[in-house]
Amino acid sequence: MRLPFTLLIDPVPADSLQQDFSDTFHEMESTAPALRVGELSTQRGDGIFETLAVVDGHPQEVEPHISRLRNSARICELPVPNAEQWRAAIAYAVSRIPQRGEIALKFVLSRGVEHGPAPTAWLHAAAASDFTAVRANGVRVITLDRGYPRGAAEKAPWLLMGAKTLSYAVNMAAIREAHRRGADDTIFLTTDGFVMEGPTSSVVLRINGEYVTPAPSGAILHGTTQQSMFDYLRAQGSRVEYRDVTLKELRHADAAWLVSSVRLAVSVVALDGEPFPADQALTDALNAYLLGRTA
Ligand code: PLP
Repeated sequence: MRLPFTLLIDPVPADSLQQDFSDTFHEMESTAPALRVGELSTQRGDGIFETLAVVDGHPQEVEPHISRLRNSARICELPVPNAEQWRAAIAYAVSRIPQRGEIALKFVLSRGVEHGPAPTAWLHAAAASDFTAVRANGVRVITLDRGYPRGAAEKAPWLLMGAKTLSYAVNMAAIREAHRRGADDTIFLTTDGFVMEGPTSSVVLRINGEYVTPAPSGAILHGTTQQSMFDYLRAQGSRVEYRDVTLKELRHADAAWLVSSVRLAVSVVALDGEPFPADQALTDALNAYLLGRTA
């Protein structure tokens, strides 16, 4: 019952019939050295990860996160993770951490040590930041060119654009650029002016009463939170759609949100320095729904 919590995992092959994984988990003191200097995750950012929220002891959207990890592994030509083992690792970690509050649980699969025999995997749980204020007040956003045209991921799959890799230096630089320009966060655009996603979030807009998100593609992650948001909106009788969205449509949208697993839904309240309309009542209802998920 303590945080942070760290678990090293010996990955087993995806097709292994093993059912008891306890001997593949090694609990670590979070302050103890755990990775080798030759780790390709630290040397080259060569690995993949997921972050899910644990709310009052409930890990949220475990299956969509595991399935996205497996998809990232396929794109990066890493050994495909054994879903049963990751389910067991998450359940084990959740049983060892506090059952109250919001916790960010990150799990990583790295290509391992250079010339080493096997990939490296671990899971790390830490208290989530307090997002109460940003959920209530929203975020000021700038648009930034991602440097690729639409279709780049399909033309150049080696860019690994649709994988959630550990190489987030560019994503963090985009957030620093937003701060430099007096904003909080960023929406990436293709060079030909289509909305992509945030550096750590999906973008959802309301256009003429319909909820729209850019279609997940080789270049845009399929957000687990955005999928939950669409489930919620559909259940309310709202129309939802995946499609291309232009910058012009973003500028004229009725409302827009950045959504992600731990911060959840935040309203865009300014876009490129101009005030932007927000639907805070819906944001509040949505976050209540997202926090209430128990699976
Ligand atoms: N897009 C990117 C680039 C992300 O890093 C994230 C989350 O970290 C998302 C979208 C949102 O995904 P999720 O809702 O599954 O957290």
